[in-house]
Amino acid sequence: MKAFYAVEQKQHNPKAFLSSGAPQPNPEQPERTERLLLGAKAAGCAIERPREHGRGPIAAIHTPEYLDFLEHIYTRWQRIEGASEEVIPNIHPLGRNGRYPASAVGQAGYHMADTACPISAETWDSACWSAWSAVEAAEAVISGAPAAYALSRPPGHHAFADAAGGFCFFNNTAIAAQHLRKQAARVAILDVDLHHGNGTQGIFYARPDVLTVSIHTDPVRFYPFFWGHADERGEGPGLGYNLNLPLPRKSGDEAFLEALQPAFRRIRAFAPDALVVALGLDAFEGDPFGGLSVSTPGFARMAEAISSLGLPSVIVQEGGYLCDALSDNLTAFLTGYASQ
Ligand SMILES: [Zn+2]
Repeated sequence: MKAFYAVEQKQHNPKAFLSSGAPQPNPEQPERTERLLLGAKAAGCAIERPREHGRGPIAAIHTPEYLDFLEHIYTRWQRIEGASEEVIPNIHPLGRNGRYPASAVGQAGYHMADTACPISAETWDSACWSAWSAVEAAEAVISGAPAAYALSRPPGHHAFADAAGGFCFFNNTAIAAQHLRKQAARVAILDVDLHHGNGTQGIFYARPDVLTVSIHTDPVRFYPFFWGHADERGEGPGLGYNLNLPLPRKSGDEAFLEALQPAFRRIRAFAPDALVVALGLDAFEGDPFGGLSVSTPGFARMAEAISSLGLPSVIVQEGGYLCDALSDNLTAFLTGYASQ
């Protein structure tokens, strides 16, 4: 399987985030790229550098205001006397029904959902290359590859059309799905990350051409809290084209594999021309987030099951944090996927 990654994706190096109000080291570390590269290579992937794709495929998902914000906010932030080194929001518009602010602080609050996505001088470049890796993997599938892997880092599925959040800046999964739409009339997204893909859901919530399905820890007491519940089914023309399958905390392999069945039924009924797998590896039992208890062989079984759908697939890296088995979990998934 082809895999795509650019070394610029490693430059983004967030320092901290607030966890239950307390400053903690940010878990979305550059070292993830090294571990994931090892895992992809061990699965036999040839790693290729994506081409530059400009703003086009990113702007197909994200708003012009957000793109301008993300490109320039770090420089603007440095002009504020006494400001933090990284851009971190401290005020948010409740309900987002107020006016669009002119100030850097106001815009940070408008475009950043939480404190987990600090912006530094390198963030824009890393986020662009992460998105272009996803675009290149979509291009490979459009050109006839049965599957391709995008080592997208920083991750993407918590990013909305106009907001960063949860370590994510550009929604690489949504960008890949939209890019596939150049050729595919219908695209399904299956998100198996530990956390609900709230950004992806938000982006496609009113659209019937992209089906969004997410299996994740029940958000009733877990990030992202406000989204990911079973009764969120889409709206307007998109009603019925969003399926959330929340699992109780600490659910293991069997519960996860069982949740794939209703996911597959919905995907088969939708009859998509292509699939995007939002591959979080943080459902792993040894992941620092510890929400679900999937094992390394569990990822292989998950991959075999998804691959048996027989759909041309773009696999986009989402979460999965530093732990001993991070490489092995990716190897297990990609090997399982290719074995079908
Ligand atoms: Zn996650």
